[in-house]
Amino acid sequence: MKSEYDVIIVGAGPAGSLAAKTAAENGLDVLLIEKRQEIGDPVRCAEGVGKVGLQEFVEPDPKWVSADIKCARIFSPDGTMVELSEKMAGNEVGFVLERKIFDRELAKLAAKAGAEVQVKTQATGLIIENGQVCGITGKQHGDDFTARAKVVVAADGVESKVGRWAGINTTLKLKDIETCAQFLMTDINIKPNSCDFYLGSKYAPGGYVWVFPKGDREANVGLGMLASHYKGKHPIEYLREFVADKFPEGKILETIVGAVPVSGMLPKLSTDGLVLVGDAGHVSDPITGGGIINAMSSGKIAGNVIAKCIKNGDVSAKALSQYDAEVREELGKSLDKNYKIKEVVTRVSDKTMDVAAHSLQGVNFENVTITKLVKEIVTRNPALLKELVGLI
Ligand SMILES: Cc1cc2nc3c(=O)[nH]c(=O)nc-3n(C[C@H](O)[C@H](O)[C@H](O)COP(=O)(O)OP(=O)(O)OC[C@H]3O[C@@H](n4cnc5c(N)ncnc54)[C@H](O)[C@@H]3O)c2cc1C
Repeated sequence: MKSEYDVIIVGAGPAGSLAAKTAAENGLDVLLIEKRQEIGDPVRCAEGVGKVGLQEFVEPDPKWVSADIKCARIFSPDGTMVELSEKMAGNEVGFVLERKIFDRELAKLAAKAGAEVQVKTQATGLIIENGQVCGITGKQHGDDFTARAKVVVAADGVESKVGRWAGINTTLKLKDIETCAQFLMTDINIKPNSCDFYLGSKYAPGGYVWVFPKGDREANVGLGMLASHYKGKHPIEYLREFVADKFPEGKILETIVGAVPVSGMLPKLSTDGLVLVGDAGHVSDPITGGGIINAMSSGKIAGNVIAKCIKNGDVSAKALSQYDAEVREELGKSLDKNYKIKEVVTRVSDKTMDVAAHSLQGVNFENVTITKLVKEIVTRNPALLKELVGLI
C-alpha cells in the first residue's frame, strides 16, 4: 500500500466497487479497502435485483445468478395471493444473485480497471486538515497506517462511520430503519421462479417476509420490520415462527441479521474532500429496502464527479456537491415518492390489506402503475380512501 492516492474508497460493497472502477477508468490512482478478509462474505442481503437496473452496470453472468425470476406473489395477512407478472413485479425481482461471488466480481472489475484493492484493511478515522478531508487512518493485519487522498469515499454501508467522522449527521430515526433477519434454507417447497412476499402484523409488523429462491428447493427466507414497531420481540423470533408455520420441514444453512436505511437519501452526501455512496448515503429504497442497484448507481456517479473535480483541481464541498445534485437527479424523485408511500403503507391495517387483496382478484396487472392499482382498490372499496389517499 502506498502513502498517497487520488481517491481512497472505504468499503468494497457494490457502491465502493463501482466508485473504484469508475474512478480508475477515469485515470485516477485509486485505493479500495475492505475490513473483512473476504469481499462479499458474510452476505447480509436477500440478493434480489431487477434485471434492467442491473444491466445498466454489468452484464449478467450465470456464475453469480442463483435464480431467474419470472413473477412475484404477494400474500395478504389472511393468505390471499396476488400474483404479479415479471413486468409488474418491480425492481426487487429479476434475478436472485449469489452475492458472495457478485461482490467479489465487482471488486475484480475495479481491480481490472486499475484500482488497488486491500482486504482485512479497516479505516479507523479520517485525516482532516483545515476542515478538508485529506485521507484516512487505518489498521491492516493489526498494524496502524495512514494514507492520504484528495477525496475519500464513504462506501461503508448502513453502519457507516466515515460520514460521521467528517461531521455529517447520518443518524437514522427508528421509523427509518428496517431491521432484518434471514435464513438461507434448503429442502423447502417453493415456487422456484417466484419471489414471494408475506404481509401482516403476525409475521412482520411494519414490514414483510420474503422468500427469494436460490434453487429448486432452496431460498433466502427473511423478514424486515421497522425498528419503531419493535415491541420486545426480535425479527429473528418472528422469522422462526414464520418458518415453523410455512416450512417446518426446512433446514437452515445460514443465519444473518442486519439493517437497511429506509429514510430516503441523506440531505447532504458530500463535504470538503469526502462523498458518501450506497447505504452510507441512505440511497436504498424506502419501501423494499432494496439497495444494491442504487448503491451501484451512486458509486458510478461518485467516480465520475470525483474525476472531474480532481482534474479541475477543486475538491471542495462546493465542487463535490455536483455529486449530490447528480444523485438527486438520478434517484431523488423515486426515493422521495417511495418514502411517502412507505409512510402510508406501514400504517395500513391487516384488514385493509386483506380487503385490497380480495378486490384485486382477477385484475390483469399488465401495464398497471401503483397509482392505478390503488385507484382500482379505492374504486372497488370506497371506504379505504381515507387510509390509502396518500398513495394516489
Ligand atoms: C437482510 C437484508 C436483505 C437485503 N435484501 C436486499 C435485496 O434483496 N435486494 C437489494 O437490492 N438490497 C437488499 N438489501 C440491501 C443491500 O444489501 C444494501 O443496500 C447494499 O449491500 C448496499 O451496498 P453498499 O455497497 O452501500 O454497502 P455494503 O454492501 O454494506 O458494503 C459496505 C462494505 O463496507 C465494509 N466496511 C464497513 N466499514 C468499514 C471500514 N471502516 N473499513 C473498511 N471497510 C469497511 C463492510 O465490511 C462492507 O463490505 C438487504 C439488506 C439486508 C440487511
